[in-house]
Amino acid sequence: MKGIFRITHGNVSIIMASHMINEINGINQMGVMDWLEAENILEKCSSPHRKTLLHNFIENVYYFDIEYILDKHFPMSVINDLAEILDFYNVDYSSLGTFNLFDKTDEDINSEDLEEAEDYAWRMFKLYEYKLMPIVVDDIFSILYSNKVFLNEFNKQISSSIIDMTMDEYPDIFKKDGVISRCSYIPQWLKQGVFHRDKGRCQICGTDLTKVLNLDNKENYDHIIPLENGGTNDPTNFQLTCESCNKSKGARSNKYNNISSRFWDLENYEMFKG
Ligand SMILES: [Zn+2]
Repeated sequence: MKGIFRITHGNVSIIMASHMINEINGINQMGVMDWLEAENILEKCSSPHRKTLLHNFIENVYYFDIEYILDKHFPMSVINDLAEILDFYNVDYSSLGTFNLFDKTDEDINSEDLEEAEDYAWRMFKLYEYKLMPIVVDDIFSILYSNKVFLNEFNKQISSSIIDMTMDEYPDIFKKDGVISRCSYIPQWLKQGVFHRDKGRCQICGTDLTKVLNLDNKENYDHIIPLENGGTNDPTNFQLTCESCNKSKGARSNKYNNISSRFWDLENYEMFKG
C-alpha cells in the first residue's frame, strides 16, 4: 500500500487515545511535566520533528501502563489485549513458542501457571514493542492530533516547565529565559498536515483558506501556545489561521478553537444553528 494511509484498528486507537486524555488530566499523577524532565527531549522543542513530543508521551504512557499491569501480576489481560492487536495487524507471534493458557483470564489462572503466563506476557510485549508499537502509537497520535482541547492542554503543561528554564542552561534552544527561539522555517510536510487536519479553515474565525474559489485569504501557521508563553516548535503546537486572525492574536494570546467539521447539518434543531 502506498501513500500516507493504512488500515487501522480503530477501536484500540480510540480506547488508548481516551486513556491518554485521562493521563494528561492527571488520573495517575503522570502529567507531562514529570515526563518532560525524565526524558531528555528538549531538543525536540526547538524544531519540528515528524516523531513529535506527543508520540514520545504516548509511547511513555503505553510502556508504563503495560509494565504496571505486569508488575501487578495480571499477565492474561496483557496477553489477551496484545494478541488481539497482533492478530489484527497480522503479526506472527509463533516464534514465542507454545502457550496453552490463551483461553484463561487472570482470575482463573493458578499460581503454577502464573510464572509461565508472566514469562509469555513479557516476551509478547517485547515482540509487540518491536514490531507494532510505533504503528499503534502513530494511530493514537492521529486521533489526538485532531483534538485541539487535548493539544492545548498538552502544550500548556509543557509550557509550564519551559517558562522556568533559563537561557544559561540551554543556550542553543532558548532566545531568552523561558522563551524558545522560533524555528527557522516550517517544513512542507508539517504545513500540509496542519492544513489537512484543520480542513483548510482558520481555527480562530473559521474562514475557508482552501483557495478553491477565493484567492484573497492567505494561510498562516500559528503557535497555539505562543513561544512568549513557553510554547514550543513541536508539530503539536501549530494551528492554521488566516492572516488577519494571526495578526490580531498578539504574541501572548493562547487563543484557539476546537472547530468540528460536521458531515451534515441537523437543521431541525435550534441549538445547532448559528
Ligand atoms: Zn481567521
